[in-house]
Amino acid sequence: MNMRTKALLDRLPGGAQAALIHNSSNMRYLSGYTGEGLLLISQAICAVVTDFRYIEQAAMEAPGCAVHQTSSPTTHNAVAFALLNEAGAACVAVEEDAVTHAQYKALVAAMPGVNFVALANVPEALRRVKDEQETGFMERANGITAKAFDYICGFIRPGVTEKQIAMELERWMQENGADSAAFPIIVASGPNGSLCHATPGPRAVQAGDLVTVDFGACVNGYRADMTRTVALGPISAEQRHIYDTVLEAQQRALAAVKPGALCKDVDAVARNYIDEAGYKGRFGHGLGHATGLDIHEEPRFNTTSTGVLEPGMTMTVEPGVYLPGVGGVRIEDSVLVTHDGCKILTPATKDLVTIPVE
Ligand code: ZN
Ligand code: ZN
Repeated sequence: MNMRTKALLDRLPGGAQAALIHNSSNMRYLSGYTGEGLLLISQAICAVVTDFRYIEQAAMEAPGCAVHQTSSPTTHNAVAFALLNEAGAACVAVEEDAVTHAQYKALVAAMPGVNFVALANVPEALRRVKDEQETGFMERANGITAKAFDYICGFIRPGVTEKQIAMELERWMQENGADSAAFPIIVASGPNGSLCHATPGPRAVQAGDLVTVDFGACVNGYRADMTRTVALGPISAEQRHIYDTVLEAQQRALAAVKPGALCKDVDAVARNYIDEAGYKGRFGHGLGHATGLDIHEEPRFNTTSTGVLEPGMTMTVEPGVYLPGVGGVRIEDSVLVTHDGCKILTPATKDLVTIPVE
């Protein structure tokens, strides 16, 4: 049993003697296993239940677990039921956010007499604070990401399309140590910049554009997240004012990131500044989110968050201003909450990068 499974067992909701894990990020966090199937954890048993396709992989990735082969995914539950009986576990916690209604009905049908309770996001709560190994993966992922930004600034020029920029970023990150992109890359140019989550399209970037790139590398499952907005040649005074406003909001919010800070208060620092600069209502999303094995984890920086920062959390700080017809600016860093503030994990400039158009 590793430290993480032990921590899970110590926190099982009332009455539960075992946990059945379906969520792939939780499975990976608790055991190292990255394939399909189920993870069963009790005091007596730690087991991966999977089919032929993943048997060898499970044994390599999760050396601390027994691996039980089933004939097909439809028989996972019967095998898990036998293991639960062996472990003497009659009350089992399952992830209410990961198990579908159909999967739950199948569990109940396959495990007569078992009492199911909600796991209440215990694995996600454990995952909020990263350990040293996880922090190391986050630093590597963010380092590759920042270097990719430097590279892509030399690739962007009038005439290349958003889609070409996204593909080039992904290729570069993979060639330089990333397992993959951390999430589908966003490239939004010119008027598309007001679409916060624009899909990179056929639009060719042109002089006078602001171009927003939002991307990250994934290393050992851990996901970096960074956004910069760059200018193609000279931009208007209004565009420059938006950029300066977002940058100041971001720097004020970064200064507010420290242990004990309420996530909603950090959000308010950036939001109030943007509102008072004349862009009230133009920053329509939360200030940021935790990252890790998933790109969006808890806690979140937004107006209703109940989260409180702790050392070891990895968070993004990403204010933006979006003006339909004009474009948008977003500046995002990933940070590690330290014992007295935060360490920026995104070593890339935030001075406005202006790409020559000649
Ligand atoms: Zn992002
Ligand atoms: Zn983000």
